[in-house]
Amino acid sequence: MNNEDKKLVVIALGGNAIKQAHEKGTAEEQFKNVEITCEQLVKMNALGYKLIITHGNGPQAGTLLIQQEEGKKLVPPMPMDIVGAMTQGQIGYMFQNTLQNYFMQKGKTIPITTIVTQVLVKEDDPDFNDPSKPVGPFYTEEEAMKLKEEKGYIVKLVKPNVDKPWRRVVPSPEPIKIVESNCVQALVDAHAIVIASGGGGIPVMKKSDGTLAGLEAVIDKDKAGNILAQEVNADIYLILTDVENAKINFGKPEEKPLGKITVAEAEKYLAEGHFLAGSMGPKVTAAIRFVKAGGEKSIITSLSNAVDALDGKSGTIIVK
Ligand code: ADP
Ligand code: MG
Repeated sequence: MNNEDKKLVVIALGGNAIKQAHEKGTAEEQFKNVEITCEQLVKMNALGYKLIITHGNGPQAGTLLIQQEEGKKLVPPMPMDIVGAMTQGQIGYMFQNTLQNYFMQKGKTIPITTIVTQVLVKEDDPDFNDPSKPVGPFYTEEEAMKLKEEKGYIVKLVKPNVDKPWRRVVPSPEPIKIVESNCVQALVDAHAIVIASGGGGIPVMKKSDGTLAGLEAVIDKDKAGNILAQEVNADIYLILTDVENAKINFGKPEEKPLGKITVAEAEKYLAEGHFLAGSMGPKVTAAIRFVKAGGEKSIITSLSNAVDALDGKSGTIIVK
C-alpha cells in the first residue's frame, strides 16, 4: 500500500489519555498514561493508518494557570493564550518522545512532530457575551472580587459550600479555521505523524488590519479537531474518551449504548438532549459535522477499543 492509499485518521484524545482523574498529574504519571495511549497509536500505524493526533489540555492548563498565579510575585504571569501554547509544547513533547521510542525499538524511523496551532474564532461569537467555561484555580469571594476589579476577570460561583467556591470563567467560542492546517497537511504528505491543535488550539481573532491576536478563551478540542480533520481531508475522525459508546438515556435505567448510526439518527438524539453539554455533547456535534462535511465516518469510543472500532467492531460509529 503506498502512502496515498492509506486512510488518514484524525484522533482526538480525551483527558484520560494523559492524566487519570484520580492522579495528581506528576510528569511520571503523565508519561505513563501517554505510553499506554501510544501503544494504541503504534497499532494503528502498523495497520497502515496515517495519523494526526489532537488532545485536551484541561488539567495541564489548570496547573499552569495556578503556577502563573502563585509565581506572580517573582516573575510576570503569562496570559491564557501563551499558557495554551505551553501546554501544546509539553504534551506534544511527551507524545513525540514516547512514540519515537516505540518506533525506534521496532527499528522504524518515522518523522513525528508537534505544531503549535492557532485556531481562528469569530470576534462576535455569542459566547464572548456570556462566558461559561471555568478555568484555573478556585478562589474565595474576596480573592474573586479583587481579580474582577484589578484584572477585569469574569468570575462565577461554581461550587457552593466550600472554602474557595469561585472560579474565573472564559468564553468558549466556535472554531472557524485552523491557522496552521497547511503546515499539518505538508507534514502528513511527507509521511509524518503530526500532533496539532492541542487543547482545542490557541484561540485567535482577526483584527481590522487582518493580523491575528491571541484571546483569553478556550476552544472545545473535539470541535477544533473536526475543523482540522475537514481541512486536511481526513477519512476518519476518531474521538477517544473514557467510555466505549455514546449512550441514549445516559445514567437512566433504560440507558442504551449506540453502535453504528446515521447522521440523521445522531442529530435526533442530540436534539432530544441525550448527550451532556461540555462532555459528550460537543463530541457528537463534532462527529456529525465531520460526516456532513464529507468525511467517511466519525467514531466515538474508548482508548482501548480504538483499533476494534476502526475495524467496525466496537464504539459509536456515525456514517452518512
Ligand atoms: P474527554 O476528556 O474525553 O473529552 P469528557 O469527560 O469531556 O471526556 O466526556 C466523556 C464523558 O461524557 C463520559 O465519561 C460521560 O460521563 C459523559 N457523558 C455525557 N453524556 C453521555 C452520553 N450520552 N453517553 C456517554 N457518556 C456521556
Ligand atoms: Mg471533554
